[in-house]
Amino acid sequence: MLEIKCPYCGKRSQIEFSYGGDAKLERPKLGTEVSDSEWNEFVYYRNNPRGEHLELWHHISGCRQWFKVFRNTATHEILSTSKIDEKIK
Ligand SMILES: [Zn+2]
Repeated sequence: MLEIKCPYCGKRSQIEFSYGGDAKLERPKLGTEVSDSEWNEFVYYRNNPRGEHLELWHHISGCRQWFKVFRNTATHEILSTSKIDEKIK
């Protein structure tokens, strides 16, 4: 079982958290014209990286804050965590 360090609460069991996706994914800006294929790409297509990956996680059973986790998807090692507005690697 993984332990994840919430930047607000400290280390907690993985079962308290929910994965929120790729933290580097950018939503198209509001008010800009986006083609159906661009929107389809944004909504449905994701990379499945092996190795270091920056992710969003939600402390759903704790403080309910979103934060970033820099993690190796091959080894499951968590390299660092940070608040959503903090710079990470
Ligand atoms: Zn928390």
